[in-house]
Amino acid sequence: MGRTYKRVLLKLSGEALMGSLPYGIDPAVVQSFAAEIADVVAKDIQVAIVVGGGNIFRGVKGAAGGMDRATADYIGMIATIMNAMTLQDALEQIEVPTRVQTAISMQEIAEPYIRRRAMRHLERGRVVIFGGGSGNPFFTTDTTAALRAAEIDAEIIFKGTKVDGVYDSDPNTNPNARRFKSLTYSHALTHDIGVMDSTAIALCKDNDIPISVFALSVSGNIRRALMGETIGTFVGG
Ligand code: UDP
Repeated sequence: MGRTYKRVLLKLSGEALMGSLPYGIDPAVVQSFAAEIADVVAKDIQVAIVVGGGNIFRGVKGAAGGMDRATADYIGMIATIMNAMTLQDALEQIEVPTRVQTAISMQEIAEPYIRRRAMRHLERGRVVIFGGGSGNPFFTTDTTAALRAAEIDAEIIFKGTKVDGVYDSDPNTNPNARRFKSLTYSHALTHDIGVMDSTAIALCKDNDIPISVFALSVSGNIRRALMGETIGTFVGG
């Protein structure tokens, strides 16, 4: 067992919510994530979540299809709010108190993002799900994760994703690709290793927030990672 965290930020990619569907949300996947998050909260670990939107809409793709990039990005941000609400529903079905806060105001359905309020919710044991990314086009939810983690004083970002860590080359095409147990921010930045986009890594580096990258496809991994077991790849100073 590794260390015990008090406050963590979990980044869930939108794609992870699709499960094996071609797009959208697989309810069984969301329910299994919620169950694991519930176990973590039961251990008095404060959990904030940033959720992506790639399972519904990606700005870059919209722009490639001829849309104005900023407009496409705003649609992407709205997609993340749908995912945030879905996750909230799954958590509340199993009695985990949650709040969704959005970076684009939608006051009929969620709180606006208010840093101090988010921290208060966390102190009270509520899971806070940040929807709407950073509220700015040309950014990503990875960068949002880094930003929110810094703002709320999270000790670490757990990035749940498709691959089980960071490799020195693409494991899908290179059978000899090696997985890093740990690597530095600088290494990740200079070698463009695909942990997170460079803006996100730079923000983590500046604020000394480590990133733990792990696979969401393995059942139990959210629980294991957030409870401090060393899995996947650790990116830090
Ligand atoms: N997005 C944005 N600003 C942000 C966060 C997200 O414009 O601060 C938009 C962007 O278009 C992005 C989409 O929302 O493509 C979905 O987010 P992302 O691709 O980061 O989700 P993930 O890859 O984690 O599913």
